Amino acid sequence: MDVLTPAQRRLNMSRIRARDTKPELVLRRGLHAAGLRFRLCVPELPGKPDLVFPRYRAVILVHGCFWHGHDCPLFRLPATRTDFWNTKIRGNRERDDKVVVALLHSGWRVLIVWECCFKGPSRRPVEEVIQLCRSFVLGTAQEAVLMGRRRATPTLP
Ligand SMILES: [Zn+2]
Repeated sequence: MDVLTPAQRRLNMSRIRARDTKPELVLRRGLHAAGLRFRLCVPELPGKPDLVFPRYRAVILVHGCFWHGHDCPLFRLPATRTDFWNTKIRGNRERDDKVVVALLHSGWRVLIVWECCFKGPSRRPVEEVIQLCRSFVLGTAQEAVLMGRRRATPTLP
């Protein structure tokens, strides 16, 4: 039974929204606000992409930098059980590659968005990430990757 009044429910929802900064949710909210409509985690597609844009034949996969072994400031192999993590993360990466190939073969355009776009020293402004994702969805590129900004290598004077 639903015991919340609509006003209470709205209040709860706004609290949830204000608190939730997970990359997928930030992305979903931003792209929705930008006028794009999508489906979530379509189970019949390889890899259950996080966001599916049927109208544009595009999908977005959001990758956590640790679990997917991104070469970036957010990833560090744990000092303990190193072999276990190495094997685990390598397995994840191999699966990621297969998923992308399967999606491309079925005519989907694939954008991978790495977590370091949103978090850590190389993060980008959220509006920029949303804009770049939107351009991909509306565009014609078959495949693209969006990651945090790399800092330029400092040059010695
Ligand atoms: Zn990363």
